[in-house]
Amino acid sequence: MGYVIGIDIGGTNFRIGTVDTSGNLKNFERTSSEMLQSDSAVDNLGQEVKSYIKRHALENQVSAISVGVPSIVSKDKSFVYSTPNLKGLENIDLGNLLSAYVNIPVFVDRDVNYLLVNDIKTHQLDPEQEKTILGFYLGTGFGNAVYINGRLHVGKNGAAGELGHIPMYGIKEACTCGNIGCSETRCSGRYLRHLTDTCFPETDISEVFVKHGDDPVIQEYVDTLAIPMATEISILDPDYVIMAGGVMTMEGFPMERLIKAVKDRARKPFPSENLEFVFPKHNQDSGVIGGAYAAFDKLSKQKHS
Ligand SMILES: [Zn+2]
Repeated sequence: MGYVIGIDIGGTNFRIGTVDTSGNLKNFERTSSEMLQSDSAVDNLGQEVKSYIKRHALENQVSAISVGVPSIVSKDKSFVYSTPNLKGLENIDLGNLLSAYVNIPVFVDRDVNYLLVNDIKTHQLDPEQEKTILGFYLGTGFGNAVYINGRLHVGKNGAAGELGHIPMYGIKEACTCGNIGCSETRCSGRYLRHLTDTCFPETDISEVFVKHGDDPVIQEYVDTLAIPMATEISILDPDYVIMAGGVMTMEGFPMERLIKAVKDRARKPFPSENLEFVFPKHNQDSGVIGGAYAAFDKLSKQKHS
């Protein structure tokens, strides 16, 4: 097998790299994802990929392209649904269109699924491919990926693992997804920014845990995060729970408090008393490498079927 070109598309950044079967990365580049905020997003992306291949002399060496998006993706890994942060890629058959443009197989998936694949590989959590692992990724939103008995759980429509969009009792605010009262309206970096701006206007958000970690407002924020997490943990009784994302890696984030709050709310005695948490540090390239791992996995399964 040759290389996989891994692409990780966020609301702000576009990241691309060349990955071999061992997960080694080269030619990593990061640019703005602004070219995708347009009606000709797929053409722009296709041109970008073509010029990347030419620039790094990769012609005839690329087995597949993986694309991670902050969205829900169809079960066949091609169609991208609702994407609030990237309008140009909303409701579009991205995988098939891009594949036709560059004449290389393309796999598209939720960016958090690729992060989870990368975390599992990097930390060697499931060499036997039999474990159940949950990924909680708290950034601007609340990302979640679910891996059951050795494989990503995608669901009937590819829409599984949207823990940020489960309804929470008593909340009336509208969510970015269009529903009312989703957990993400409380459990997100977006809400932390709102709390900081309204309760601690003199504090920069980067210092809010260091300066106000003992304030009841912040304590309640952290305890609320535990509600959806403990819910999914009690449903699936995972082997590992991955805690990551920009908010959880902020200076002073009270991880001990969050873990205690999760254990307090999870079913006793198990899974509560036998939880194993993993705390990966992500880099700019984590989603690119994770996507490549997932693409190599798909390619080898296609070969054997
Ligand atoms: Zn929602």
